[in-house]
Amino acid sequence: MDDTMQARVAAARRSLAALRAALDDATLALARRCSPQRRLGGKRLDDEQVAAFELAWAAADLLAAETAVGLLGPASSELDTRLALLFAVDAGAAVVGRLETLQLELDLPPGLLEPVRGDPAWNALRQAAAGSAALDAAGRAVAAAQGEVGVVALDEPHALAQDAFRRFSAEVVAPQAEAIHRENLTVPESLLQPLREMGVFGLSVPEQYGGSAPDDHEDALLMVLVTEALSEGSLAAAGSLITRPEILTRALLAGGTREQQAHWLPKLAAGDPLCAIAITEPDHGSDVAGLTLRATRVPGGWKLQGAKTWCTFAGKAGVLMVVARTDPDRSLGHRGLSLLLVEKPAFDGHDFVVRQDGGGLLGGRAIPTIGYRGMHSFDLSFEGFFVPDSHLVGGEAGLGQGFYYTMAGMVGGRMQTAARACGVMRAALRAAIRYSEDRKVFGQALVEFPLTRAKLARMGARLAACRQLACEVARRVDGGEGRMEASLVKLLACRSAEMVTREALQLHGGMGYAEESAVSRYFVDARVLSIFEGAEETLALKVVARSLLERALGAAPTAA
Ligand SMILES: Cc1cc2nc3c(=O)[nH]c(=O)nc-3n(C[C@H](O)[C@H](O)[C@H](O)COP(=O)(O)OP(=O)(O)OC[C@H]3O[C@@H](n4cnc5c(N)ncnc54)[C@H](O)[C@@H]3O)c2cc1C
Repeated sequence: MDDTMQARVAAARRSLAALRAALDDATLALARRCSPQRRLGGKRLDDEQVAAFELAWAAADLLAAETAVGLLGPASSELDTRLALLFAVDAGAAVVGRLETLQLELDLPPGLLEPVRGDPAWNALRQAAAGSAALDAAGRAVAAAQGEVGVVALDEPHALAQDAFRRFSAEVVAPQAEAIHRENLTVPESLLQPLREMGVFGLSVPEQYGGSAPDDHEDALLMVLVTEALSEGSLAAAGSLITRPEILTRALLAGGTREQQAHWLPKLAAGDPLCAIAITEPDHGSDVAGLTLRATRVPGGWKLQGAKTWCTFAGKAGVLMVVARTDPDRSLGHRGLSLLLVEKPAFDGHDFVVRQDGGGLLGGRAIPTIGYRGMHSFDLSFEGFFVPDSHLVGGEAGLGQGFYYTMAGMVGGRMQTAARACGVMRAALRAAIRYSEDRKVFGQALVEFPLTRAKLARMGARLAACRQLACEVARRVDGGEGRMEASLVKLLACRSAEMVTREALQLHGGMGYAEESAVSRYFVDARVLSIFEGAEETLALKVVARSLLERALGAAPTAA
């Protein structure tokens, strides 16, 4: 990195530090408004949703910018440096905008943003990093690198895994992805079987149970790399296959009896049976505490009665993790929920019915969707469906613990979803580069126009920042931290995937809107990412903003 770049990096660090100070002030002001007695009130927080949402987004943008710039060193490549600075000034400008909203909402002092907005160095940096000349240079570099951006230093095992899964994704997944999407097929055994052999279903299962995770800590980084690589080939037919076993594995590790762990974990690791997760109901999605599907005690087990919806892969799965209300007292909220494992035959189609000898019935119907095809997401109806006692996770001790066991898998699920978003972005960026190099408009290649290169630069900067943040947070998770940050990177990467796939489709012109272009699939697939594994609003308000406010209150002097 030359002296000029080093000076810009130093200026970026100073501006981001000033923004961090302003964000901390705004966070504390909102925390105080929402907690008159130093305890955060849910109703107060709801009254301030507009401000809380801005705060969560500002935190996500700022952390990503700090991470991107923080990773730069004297040996960083020109591409990495340009993209980190570009993301930092774009995200910094977005943070300034959000802080202005907070300033108005919370009556914060007018000088809050002056250390950034009034700083000539900040404006000079914006011109240097995101002016037209800088965008042009960054766009050229992104195209020359064929979208290979946000490279993260990895040890040998992780680097080898990334290479192997990227190769598999390009050679085996991608060629099948279009047909699965356009013909709404079920993920075929020609994908599932090699993935079983590569051990993907056992990535979160400890080695002692036949998986590949270390027995004493998580390997979220490996999960992120594998998920990203598979999602580049197909979000729905490959990249999302690991999410379900991870959630069930973590629930079993958190609360399963020894017998349940010994019985189920090796099977899950082998991908035989495949599994699905049934939490959402027609009337309850984000507010899990309100779930109503009833499990009633009968001799030898439980009978399930009620509906679930959006249960992805329920047809092909041989076991469903069902969150059910085992205590009829609705006032218990999430404390009345337990987990039951429902075994069923695997089906390939879009509808299925399972009838039990005693009259129990489980029906499933795939919901037609605009994208994310391959696993199919099912409406399920349980009518007196019997589940034996042995399938209550945790046995008697697991009664009322279903919510907590489910939450044990949520950090991993969110990390994976951030990684899924990165994989889709990578595919979209690389497709956009190829197309803009090939496509001639007004007598020259599309990529030769400055606006195209500016778009490629911003897409590359966003992807690089998201994947670097995902890997950094994964490392924190592996060290036993980073719970809130996992939500934060999920938030940012999923919205970023919408932005990047939108630009990639736009660069394809009319061809982008044709089903035959893979980029149209990336666009519709990306749209789901902000909905599941914590809908954007719920995640921003109830996880990110709430944690930030609690931290701010915890750190504030008590006399305040
Ligand atoms: C393709 C797909 C696959 C899925 N797979 C699964 C699966 O395998 N298993 C499973 O259990 N579920 C699955 N889901 C369901 C998913 O988790 C839910 O859709 C999600 O939790 C949101 O719930 P909901 O759809 O009921 O929306 P709602 O909870 O009704 O929310 C509607 C809107 O309101 C917002 N909102 C919610 N609460 C608040 C609030 N307090 N303040 C302000 N805004 C709020 C939400 O963010 C959202 O924008 C899947 C969904 C899709 C689309």
